[in-house]
Amino acid sequence: MPLSPEQHQEIEAQRGQSATTLRAVSPGMEAHLYKAHQVLDHGFVRVVDYMGDDSAIVQAARVSYGRGTKSVSNDEGLIRYLMRHWHSTPFEMCEVKLHVKLPVFVARQWIRHRTANVNEYSGRYSILDREFYIPSAEHLAAQSVVNNQGRGEALSGEEAARVLAWLKDDAGRAYDHYEAMISQEGQQGLARELARMNLPANIYTQWYWKVDLHNLLHFLRLRADAHAQYEIRVYADALCEIVKDWVPFAYKAFEDYRLGAVSMSTQAVDVIKRRLAGEAVTQETSGMSKGEWREFVAIWG
Ligand SMILES: Cc1cc2nc3c(=O)[nH]c(=O)nc-3n(C[C@H](O)[C@H](O)[C@H](O)COP(=O)(O)OP(=O)(O)OC[C@H]3O[C@@H](n4cnc5c(N)ncnc54)[C@H](O)[C@@H]3O)c2cc1C
Repeated sequence: MPLSPEQHQEIEAQRGQSATTLRAVSPGMEAHLYKAHQVLDHGFVRVVDYMGDDSAIVQAARVSYGRGTKSVSNDEGLIRYLMRHWHSTPFEMCEVKLHVKLPVFVARQWIRHRTANVNEYSGRYSILDREFYIPSAEHLAAQSVVNNQGRGEALSGEEAARVLAWLKDDAGRAYDHYEAMISQEGQQGLARELARMNLPANIYTQWYWKVDLHNLLHFLRLRADAHAQYEIRVYADALCEIVKDWVPFAYKAFEDYRLGAVSMSTQAVDVIKRRLAGEAVTQETSGMSKGEWREFVAIWG
């Protein structure tokens, strides 16, 4: 369970309080504020705070004294122009602070995104919870045969059952020993900062993660992508839904110009032009490597 009844109560209590403000608020984001969106078996993402909305992007781009808004269609057009032309600093004017609970092996990938502010739950100070990510049957997949950095079909039969049992047993045993090592009953008790080294990478950790919209979109571009590992992609997908409600114009522009877009090399543009002119181009005559050609054909046929 990602949250205890007490934690749910705390969140509801926080959502029960409101204050008047002169600051811009995003109605879509207000609906998400403090709520935990479950991800994987014990994880979640929740918005703890945010600053700005679509109009803050427009306001910064125009460096205006007021809200900077001209008309809704004008604002959307400007946001789309900024996104299309990589004029990124206006998007940095919006910020979000998230509380994320995630397995340690996912955290290792996530923390590579350096343009954020992070504060992690302290395993030196606190006792970690007995919570491990155990993949559901369809995500317990075999090594991919075409991509060294990926997975293929789901395991089946006895092998799936054996792997699942090992994952559960090993995690449980490691945690039993962790608890036994830190226990101070009848012994000194090993320091928490040392005992935690015995815990597996599927144990959950938590952090507060604060990032501006530009860098968050960069994170989403990489981690909501089909090439990202499933276990981080589901966090990115949950965040996409939140961003969509927070800054709808910016998110739509992001979907159109980043998520759903492809970048083309000089050679790829040349091949498209030659094909449009009726030439039958092959990998050998394209000027592309086999890998590049494979990716090109996957998109363009
Ligand atoms: C599918 C996938 C597979 C990956 N595989 C591996 C892997 O096998 N091994 C591995 O180590 N990593 C891997 N990564 C991580 C990847 O290399 C990046 O570290 C990660 O995606 C963070 O991207 P970033 O540096 O652009 O983001 P951020 O750290 O948020 O940085 C954003 C941008 O700021 C600039 N920037 C930030 N810090 C610096 C700096 N110190 N110097 C210069 N410019 C900076 C860069 O322009 C950067 O693009 C993988 C990522 C993905 C999505």
